[in-house]
Amino acid sequence: MLSDIEIAQGAKMLPIAEIAAKLNIQNDELEPYGRYKAKLSESIYSRLEGKPDGKLVLVTAINPTPAGEGKTTTTVGLGQGMKKIGKDAIIALREPSLGPVFGIKGGAAGGGYSQVVPMEDINLHFTGDMHAITAANNLLCAIIDNHMQQGNELGIDQRRILFKRCMDMNDRALRNVIVGLGGKVNGVPREDGFQITVASEIMAILCLSSDLADLKRRLGSILVAYNYSGQPVYARDLKVHGAMAALLKDALKPNLVQTLENTPALMHGGPFANIAHGCNSIRATKLGLKLADYCITEAGFGSDLGAEKFLDIKCRFAGLAPSCIVLVATLRALKYNGGVPKAEVAQENVEALKRGLCNLRAHVENMRKYGVPVVVAINRFLTDTDGEIAALADFCRELNVEYALSEVFAKGGDGAVELAQKVVAACEQPAHFRFLYDEKLPVKEKVGIIAREIYGADGIVYTAQAEKMIREIEALGQDKLPICVAKTQYSLSDDPAKLGRPTGFAITVRDVRLSAGAGFIVVLTGDIMTMPGLPKAPAANLIDVDDNGNITGLF
Ligand code: ADP
Ligand code: MG
Repeated sequence: MLSDIEIAQGAKMLPIAEIAAKLNIQNDELEPYGRYKAKLSESIYSRLEGKPDGKLVLVTAINPTPAGEGKTTTTVGLGQGMKKIGKDAIIALREPSLGPVFGIKGGAAGGGYSQVVPMEDINLHFTGDMHAITAANNLLCAIIDNHMQQGNELGIDQRRILFKRCMDMNDRALRNVIVGLGGKVNGVPREDGFQITVASEIMAILCLSSDLADLKRRLGSILVAYNYSGQPVYARDLKVHGAMAALLKDALKPNLVQTLENTPALMHGGPFANIAHGCNSIRATKLGLKLADYCITEAGFGSDLGAEKFLDIKCRFAGLAPSCIVLVATLRALKYNGGVPKAEVAQENVEALKRGLCNLRAHVENMRKYGVPVVVAINRFLTDTDGEIAALADFCRELNVEYALSEVFAKGGDGAVELAQKVVAACEQPAHFRFLYDEKLPVKEKVGIIAREIYGADGIVYTAQAEKMIREIEALGQDKLPICVAKTQYSLSDDPAKLGRPTGFAITVRDVRLSAGAGFIVVLTGDIMTMPGLPKAPAANLIDVDDNGNITGLF
């Protein structure tokens, strides 16, 4: 089989105006960025306001192996499969960050015959959204340091500045830095640090904003520091939120691209799935629901993190309700959950597979708590044997959950015909979507519900630091916000070594942070990385460009 980039470069892309025309997008609503990418202008929202929404399909997964289990690939393939059965669908995905592109080999635009194109552009600078977010973030930082330099009227305590600089690169050397060195004219010396752009609160805000006014309000609400008397300092106190919104004006517009089979795809925003909520923008998803009968979207990590946040944060803010949840399962991940080491998951092992099925059961049961029909997509790898697939299919029947074999990596949309039919049927069933918790509850009660109901924990331990932060958030009157848990993606618990369906454990809340602009409370379990490092052999070593501008080695 060809590599992802070889397949992508062989795609017969249509000019983006043709993709837009098929969606009945008007000429003046399309802002082309070259031939195959475009942004959609603000006016499209008012024109489509009265149009009924299509059905929302969420793609999520069981706990993965470290290689990723194919949510993006399945999302793209299902979108392509919908066209094969005569349905009108659009895909809504996150846009990739440069960090992983140059770090660990692995795509963010799907794989095999289920990809979004032009993949080189999408994976590199795309339409510049990441750069705009980086600029807006660092403008706020420059203003904070300048404020202290120019007399510090607000009394910002340089030891209590919460907001960090950012860059869209994996660069561990920038995790902790000292700025302002060199004497009086060069600023106030202080400790600072960098996050990767996608971990920035600005990214979360962009993805949760309903329009420019809401964006500006949220930017103004970022808690940037405390002053010497312990009072909060917000971005609006520095009068910088207007300029930040100006920098983000175009980044707020969803990007339109296409799949290998010319299915329309919106790619917009890409917040981290740990420190933030991990799904594409509300604006793209809402627009997708106006543009097609089915909008298929993905949430990062397994359902314990990605789907929980999609449902309890994004759907809550946006007033969205999914009609179907697709749970991606691979035999590899089930065997991994059954105790097989990562290096051996490709070998047949029905016994280990059966041991790992408890993980699938947990995810199915968890998603059913939201009142939405579930379809399991068995993402087939070449090494999967028929005996193993039969064992998984038997288990799905036992669980009384719909399932379909998905071969979208090898076959594109043709590999998702059955999955598409099952999803369409599920969307016809009555859904009774409900949130897991009431956001008005006290912080600890909300965390308790998620930990018990989704992780299966029987206790929660709070560090003294976490307790202190909860009291601070309550004192600020900001405790009525939804919870955004940062947790390992490899386990239902907060310990990546506890595979399958762990029981009899407590989770430890190490710290709690307020993302007042984004509008959620981040609850951190374990050490959460917001500036990744590069591996010993970075993918950057393999990427090249020839004299004609053709890129190679990008996955
Ligand atoms: P996720 O969105 O869950 O992180 P991706 O869809 O990005 O996962 O897939 C992770 C990696 O695995 C990608 O490199 C993708 O090409 C590859 N992949 C996904 N499904 C398959 C499959 N069925 N066979 C082979 N490789 C696959
Ligand atoms: Mg993905």
